[in-house]
Amino acid sequence: MSMMTEATTLTELLERIARREHLSHDEWKTVITEAETEDLRRLADALRRELNPDGVVTYVVDRNINYTNVCFSVCNFCAFYRKPGHEEGYVLSYDEIYAKVEEMIAVGGSGVLMQGGLHPDLPLEWYTTLLSELKQRYGIHLHCFSPTEIYGMSKTFGLTSEEVIRELVAAGLDSIPGGGGEILVDEIRRKRRTECNGQEWLEAMEAAHRVGLKTTATMMIGYGETIDQRIQHLELLRQLQERTLTSGQPGFVSFIPWTFQPDNTPIGKVIPTRLPAEEYLRWLALSRLYLNNIPNVQVSWLTVGLADGRRGLHFGANDIGSTMIEENVISKAGANHKATEEMLRDVIIGEGFIPRKRKADYTRLPLAS
Ligand code: SF4
Repeated sequence: MSMMTEATTLTELLERIARREHLSHDEWKTVITEAETEDLRRLADALRRELNPDGVVTYVVDRNINYTNVCFSVCNFCAFYRKPGHEEGYVLSYDEIYAKVEEMIAVGGSGVLMQGGLHPDLPLEWYTTLLSELKQRYGIHLHCFSPTEIYGMSKTFGLTSEEVIRELVAAGLDSIPGGGGEILVDEIRRKRRTECNGQEWLEAMEAAHRVGLKTTATMMIGYGETIDQRIQHLELLRQLQERTLTSGQPGFVSFIPWTFQPDNTPIGKVIPTRLPAEEYLRWLALSRLYLNNIPNVQVSWLTVGLADGRRGLHFGANDIGSTMIEENVISKAGANHKATEEMLRDVIIGEGFIPRKRKADYTRLPLAS
């Protein structure tokens, strides 16, 4: 039954969520549209405490390296890319990347989150040599190449996603970030990006899970999608995680919802405003509850700011993300929040939790590090 009957009140739906039951699409829709924010917060916080009884909130010190801005996809929510042949297109040299990694290590970082555009000309060896050099030189955690980039490489090299991932893993890849997920429903996706549909993104992730990699899942809201599409997105992730867990792999280790940043993007002329913090926090809480088969949820302080980011720790988030020593993609679209490791630790302690540094795959680092 998808319609709420008289017997199915909002209170009963909230009670079923508290029992960790999975609701129907329409029932979740009723919850997100009708529940009090405090009820969502309370339920998400209870689940978060159940899943993390030690009161720890994790964070990571790493560096986002955007190795190229050249991209053959044309996403109208993106302020970062330059089309192939554009005079402002760049590819970082290995030496430039090594220098960035050394700066990251100097401030106590554990790895790099390397992402870029879909470059049409870089050979596979460019990626594999870079990974193996980084691993050999520095022994750091390599959290690199979103499913969109894996898709781009598979098109460019005529390989399947799984074949691409196996080559990258053999070269040193440790885990895959969930960039490019946005909303995985093609009805909105077709209006926003030209490459990598929802199925292709999910297939790349499923291939990564098959290979045994840990990955993160994301959702970008506020770029013109409907509530139904947000719920469909969560369902697609939940189902993929269900399949992965059944096969004995860890799959998605975290879910990270963030908000669309409109500045300097083509679609920003139509959608110039950011999502209100209240709406973000409601969806953060709903995501925690919906995706109760994913162990961690990260609040995106980078897009909503630290003031609202810290509130997210009471709306289901048990991770506050990265210090973001360098970030070029969403900062170009107007998210210019910055934080040091000390600031993140102070926020975590200030909200009553215990800070703990982790790696990109959510493995906690020894206390002394
Ligand atoms: S969002 Fe990613 S895939 Fe889309 S244009 Fe920007 S860099 Fe390219």
